[in-house]
Amino acid sequence: MNPALSFELFPPQTPEGATRLQSECDRLAALEPAFFSVTYGAGGSTRERTFSVVKDIAAANRPVAPHLSCVGFTRAGIREILNEYRAADIRRIVALRGDLPSGMVDAGELRYANELVDFIRAETGDAFHIDVAAYPEWHPQAKSPKDDLQNFARKVKAGANSAITQYFYNADAYFHFVDEARALGVDVPIVPGVMPIVSFSRLARFSDACGADIPRWMRKKFESYGDDTDSIRAFGLDVLTELCERLLQGGAPGLHFYSMNQATLTETIIGRLKTEDRGQ
Ligand code: FAD
Repeated sequence: MNPALSFELFPPQTPEGATRLQSECDRLAALEPAFFSVTYGAGGSTRERTFSVVKDIAAANRPVAPHLSCVGFTRAGIREILNEYRAADIRRIVALRGDLPSGMVDAGELRYANELVDFIRAETGDAFHIDVAAYPEWHPQAKSPKDDLQNFARKVKAGANSAITQYFYNADAYFHFVDEARALGVDVPIVPGVMPIVSFSRLARFSDACGADIPRWMRKKFESYGDDTDSIRAFGLDVLTELCERLLQGGAPGLHFYSMNQATLTETIIGRLKTEDRGQ
């Protein structure tokens, strides 16, 4: 088993966070990912910090893909960012709509991610490998699963090369989504997004907002551990390892870890997958 791995990081807010990120990134680099990706605060709130992390990773000769969201931006603003990345020799971008930050009213000139992909292709040709987001459990604002799937297919047709999914804990949702996308003619790799579990309460809050389901059997078990962080962590690692195994055995083309600037859980899961692979 040698799946393509990618690790998602976010731009730290403090100098201490930046120092920590450097060492976590070194540890993750030892796992030889296909690329790192760096998130972008919707509305451009992390523009400079995202760019700075991206440049640092690229300077260490590591492949890196900045996330870029179009909400709240003009075409001219997006063009400027694309030019900055091209000048820095960045070759891959995760293209997103993003969510309008509270208090911000102007949605910008590009309404959806498919329009951003169109724009990137029109402006820069094949300069970038473009990843887009996919939602095996459906995007929370989607009118219907069918509508969401068609919107996903539309952004791939606009020129995306591959997709990364929102995280999920139900492998069947992913397999079903991939089958449906293939039936619509989508033939790009759809890489499952994997969220290691650091804190159950934080995960529960975040999952409600982004529409990811935490299955009842998992939720009940996490709740039963109360503040016992060791048990939460151990159970989370078991769940994630089994999930990754199932995804890879079922044909997932790789794994994208929402590593959240922490190497340990990602390392542990990948280490276990390799050990179990050797044992087979
Ligand atoms: P879209 O693909 O545009 O879809 C948004 C909604 O609109 C969906 O409900 C869709 O069905 C609908 N829709 C799409 N196209 C059309 C159309 N043409 N007409 C009508 N309806 C349409 N957020 C950040 O702020 N920063 C990040 O760095 C970031 N990284 C992410 C990385 C990944 C891998 C994923 C899965 C999500 C990420 N997000 C990030 C979250 C993302 O920005 C939100 O989920 C956002 O709400 C949707 O972005 P999108 O690109 O999927 O939007």
